[in-house]
Amino acid sequence: MALADPSPAPLIDGLGRQISYLRISVTDRCDMRCRYCMAEKMQFLPKNQVLSLEEIALLADLFIARGITRIRLTGGEPLVRRDIGDLVRRIGRHLGHGLNELTLTTNGTQLAQHADMLADAGIRRINVSLDSRDPDRFAHLTRGGDVRAVLTGLNAARTAGLAIKINMVALKGINQDEIIPMLRWCDDQGFDLTLIETMPLGDIGGDRTDHYLPLTQAVDDIRADHNLIPIAHRTGGPARYHAVEGMQTRLGLITPLTNNFCGDCNRIRMSCEGKIYMCLGHEDHVDFKSALRENGPCAVGPLVDRALRRKPARHDFHIGTPATHRHMSVTGG
Ligand code: SAM
Ligand code: SF4
Repeated sequence: MALADPSPAPLIDGLGRQISYLRISVTDRCDMRCRYCMAEKMQFLPKNQVLSLEEIALLADLFIARGITRIRLTGGEPLVRRDIGDLVRRIGRHLGHGLNELTLTTNGTQLAQHADMLADAGIRRINVSLDSRDPDRFAHLTRGGDVRAVLTGLNAARTAGLAIKINMVALKGINQDEIIPMLRWCDDQGFDLTLIETMPLGDIGGDRTDHYLPLTQAVDDIRADHNLIPIAHRTGGPARYHAVEGMQTRLGLITPLTNNFCGDCNRIRMSCEGKIYMCLGHEDHVDFKSALRENGPCAVGPLVDRALRRKPARHDFHIGTPATHRHMSVTGG
């Protein structure tokens, strides 16, 4: 397949935004069932509907050849996908050759087994989700998860030399009281912390409104204890960062509901079914898997331009109403 273009033109969407970042959901499956993310009983996709690792790698090749410079592997839980190391190594070979950065978002439960592999493949930093450090609360929030496995994974990742950012979805009445302790703990551990507003994606068997915590409120609470100074630091995603006076930890805020960030969105997402979603909050997509399986890799190139033209201006989240039937785990958070 002739994919190589030594200096691809920048990928520009219909609104003039430069798209350089691809998030890939490598599986919709997960070993936990976080209450804000999934319903208790989930119907996962049949295996033949999910891209093979080879297909994911081929599509990643194509996107890198077209100008994607940053890829994040996510899910579902990427580290539960069998042979995930093969994919990480394969995409990692592009680092320094079109790809500037390969990263991963994980729930951390399998990190202890995989941390060295990730570092060896060229990953330098990862996001690890940790909404509570309290074992009982963590088990409740994840419907059965064991926080000790995540903490062991975090230690292994640090030992492997990976920089770590903790993702914490801020939830009223569930972990609101842990936000400031989490910030202090991250500072002790040498991790950054990003707080996330819960987003209305997919049916979770309940109403998200009950636990929705606007980050404006969380920030007010933090400011009562710690001075926050906005900083220009960016990691390619939607988080906006603050320095915390007296701490090394940077505090990131992802505020899809209280402070829309779509104006400078640089991302597209590939679901584990090979559908390219131009926005997390819309159903519109372009089906790369069908094109690839029916007509081969050459059929896929023109679809990139079609996808870019269709990227919407913004999402339109309302906390009580799911914006999409899809859970975040299908599209990749
Ligand atoms: N399983 C991995 C994990 O939990 O990190 C990767 C996939 S998960 C979908 C990626 C991120 O999305 C996690 O930080 C998770 O907390 C967040 N997330 C999932 N569902 C969400 C929702 N409805 N609103 C906001 N964040 C969500
Ligand atoms: Fe799994 Fe991540 Fe969703 Fe939790 S947030 S259920 S760990 S995919």
